[in-house]
Amino acid sequence: MSLTSRKDAGRTIMAQIMLFEDQERFRVAFELAGVGIGLVDQHGRFFEVNGQLSEMFAIPKSELVGMTLAGLPVPEGDSRAPNPIKTASKFGFPASVFEKRFLSMHGNTVWAEVSFRPACGPTAKPDFFIASFHDITERKFLQNALEKQASVDPLTLALNRLSFDDRANVELQRSGRHGYRLALVMADLDHFKAINDSYGHTAGDHVLTVFGEITRSCLRTMDLFGRWGGEEFLILLPDTGPAGAKRVCERIRSTLEAHDFPGGCKVTASLGVAARRAGENFSSLLDRADAAMYQAKQNGRNRVFTNPDDLRRESTRKPDRLNQLELHWRKIYSCGVPEIDAEHQQKFKIANRILQALSSDPDGAAVGPLVDELLIHIAEHFKHEEAILKAEGYPEYEAHKESHVNLLARATDFAARYRNKETTAGALLGFVIHDVVATHIMLEDKKYYSWIKKQAPSGGQKQRAGNQMDAA
Ligand code: GH3
Ligand code: MG
Ligand code: MG
Repeated sequence: MSLTSRKDAGRTIMAQIMLFEDQERFRVAFELAGVGIGLVDQHGRFFEVNGQLSEMFAIPKSELVGMTLAGLPVPEGDSRAPNPIKTASKFGFPASVFEKRFLSMHGNTVWAEVSFRPACGPTAKPDFFIASFHDITERKFLQNALEKQASVDPLTLALNRLSFDDRANVELQRSGRHGYRLALVMADLDHFKAINDSYGHTAGDHVLTVFGEITRSCLRTMDLFGRWGGEEFLILLPDTGPAGAKRVCERIRSTLEAHDFPGGCKVTASLGVAARRAGENFSSLLDRADAAMYQAKQNGRNRVFTNPDDLRRESTRKPDRLNQLELHWRKIYSCGVPEIDAEHQQKFKIANRILQALSSDPDGAAVGPLVDELLIHIAEHFKHEEAILKAEGYPEYEAHKESHVNLLARATDFAARYRNKETTAGALLGFVIHDVVATHIMLEDKKYYSWIKKQAPSGGQKQRAGNQMDAA
């Protein structure tokens, strides 16, 4: 070997040793980094993950490899993690950072700040992406606890005035948008000053705590309960007319009256109800609830007074906007594949039955089974649509399937919350029309319409014909 070629060989070995040392250093840094790291390929799948990420999710490395960000488990009802590569392809390859709640396989919640960056080599197009997961669970829990502390009155666990005001205004806007009813209650303990004077301030505080417990036990999760002043409380009941609100108040009043406080002390309250009128703002509704409460005091205390005009209006109330809503199927909604079009039309039909049931009785028993029917229909339709798109070789098949997974998870969560009375009929209506029909059929599905219409009858369609015959 000549001197030059020996030198070259020596240089190559040195370069290899340096590369090896670099790789070793990288590996050590990768494994010892205090954050979970995953290297993501062009298709959005992890091809390498560190031990920290595996520990964070309690998922073995071998199982994480091949998964997408959207495949990481999240608590029931939460949306899946977004796919940053999708946005990246539209706007170049910017880094993105987002906070997301995940679920580890041990069942505990994991909050992570996810940072997703392209690993740009010499070419502008990144060879791969780096996703790092910074565990912020503790910070989130602390933040939540602090927020809760700041918005809740510790004695009665009612919202403080500021939070109640904020949330009530959001609720008022929502009721205006969706056209559902809403009632506000002002409650005030009777002769509370005398209770303090006779039994002491600590006993008075205990009465306030018990009143809070009784009231909360009579309310649904979606109702708002706030402490407006010393012994004055507000209750906001979404989706409730004056007669319904009166019934809730009567339950609170009678439960409090029946409660035995220490020392044989008896406590009562006076409650006033006002139902929101079209376009009415919070301050006007509050004045009317206050006036109704004052009337209850005037009439002898320990009673519920409901604004008589509101009660009259309810009995002669014209069917509200819910009644006039109906979805109409139009030809332009067809994609040309008869099975898919038939199923989409069926979705419209079920949605219309839900709208009708909501309009005749928002709290009625008919709505729940229809929501379940819609859920079953969506799940079956998605499976069917996916099979067709896969057989046809639709290029965006994976992304479309992912949109199904997300929507189905949200629909399942919505149905559960509706069943548990944690959401309003108005919100359910919004979900069915906006998320299921408008956003999914009109936007997501539309993406494959023009593509599928361009396809000549292919093996895929023949396959479908075969499947139909099998089914028949
Ligand atoms: P009415 O039936 O007309 O409402 O009479 P009332 O005595 O309840 O009304 P008033 O407004 O005269 O008295 C309210 C009392 O509530 C006076 C105040 O000391 C007491 N109070 C306000 N906040 C608290 C609190 O946090 N703890 C206790 N123990 N008492 C409170
Ligand atoms: Mg009072
Ligand atoms: Mg008072």
